[in-house]
Amino acid sequence: MFAAVCHLFLRVTGSPLKTAGIFCLCFFLAPACADAVRAADSSAGEMRPFLQALDNLNARCGWTDVSAAGVAWEHHRTTRHRRPLIFARFGAGAGNCILFLGGVHGDERPTVYLMLKLAQYLQEHPEIVKDQCIVIAPLVNPDGYFAAPPTRVNAGGVDLNRNFPTRDWNRKAHRQWRTKGHKNRRYYPGAKAGSEPETLFQAALIKRFQPRKILSVHSPLNFFDYDGPSSDLDSFEQWMETISREANHPLKKFGYYPGSLGNYAGHERNIFTLTLELPSSDPKQGPAYFQQFFPAFLKFIRLPADGRPLFTRVVKHGKAQAALTKVLGRMFWNAGDGMDNGKQNFDQDAAVNAFR
Ligand SMILES: [Zn+2]
Repeated sequence: MFAAVCHLFLRVTGSPLKTAGIFCLCFFLAPACADAVRAADSSAGEMRPFLQALDNLNARCGWTDVSAAGVAWEHHRTTRHRRPLIFARFGAGAGNCILFLGGVHGDERPTVYLMLKLAQYLQEHPEIVKDQCIVIAPLVNPDGYFAAPPTRVNAGGVDLNRNFPTRDWNRKAHRQWRTKGHKNRRYYPGAKAGSEPETLFQAALIKRFQPRKILSVHSPLNFFDYDGPSSDLDSFEQWMETISREANHPLKKFGYYPGSLGNYAGHERNIFTLTLELPSSDPKQGPAYFQQFFPAFLKFIRLPADGRPLFTRVVKHGKAQAALTKVLGRMFWNAGDGMDNGKQNFDQDAAVNAFR
């Protein structure tokens, strides 16, 4: 058989050297192709049962009007328990991205309902996002969400909102957890900054889509909080006061922690980062909370906030600004795709050093 194949190639190529070359190429490429096929299979294989399990759990929460299976999710990463970390992108806009995050803490169930409902709404109303790009990751911590009972922390026992590789993490994260947090395991920041797959997932979404605005939904502290570019916070605060009045929801400046999203995205990367803390973690309240906050979501989508790095604002209009924005964008945002390689080895040091 092998001899027959060799003979055929020899006749086609007319040269023993070329034939040997083709065999060498096949030898190196075949495993890579097989890997790609396996990756595609495993991606589809993990997604379907996961979405089914999610719909089943959501039905037990009394949410019969939302289906995770109806949205075109994407995933490249998995949790410790091999659950896919899903997100969906809506709209064809190249820039002007907004990132929505839910289920960062697994025991904050209604946050997942709100994000699934928003995804469903955007899928049915593409006109809302025609010039924009909206990315929704409805369940950042599926292992905590599916645990019985659900847990704030992930399967590694880490609070994902204390694990981002912020500049102050090495100096302060463990000290603050011991002193202010009294070693409460619910707030454990992890052994290392960025140690958790779910943290790297969020960091990779930020790196890939470079959102100008982020809305992260939590519960049950009952307020709006925000972090972002310091020079623009006054106008953002005025906007937040209006939204807070209209949604009948208090506004509170909560500050940020070593390893928190507000610190990583808002403080260090100048992205307008809004945290919505729902009044309770009662899953039955999900639909009522969606009614209450959906108008604020739409206003947040339309808000013309520009969370570019401060450096891009010092040069006024024209080509020089565009060029500098591009260069600084590359330098400070690690422009490029953090997701497509499917690897989980996000460069934490680059992320930590990005604004040093
Ligand atoms: Zn939370």
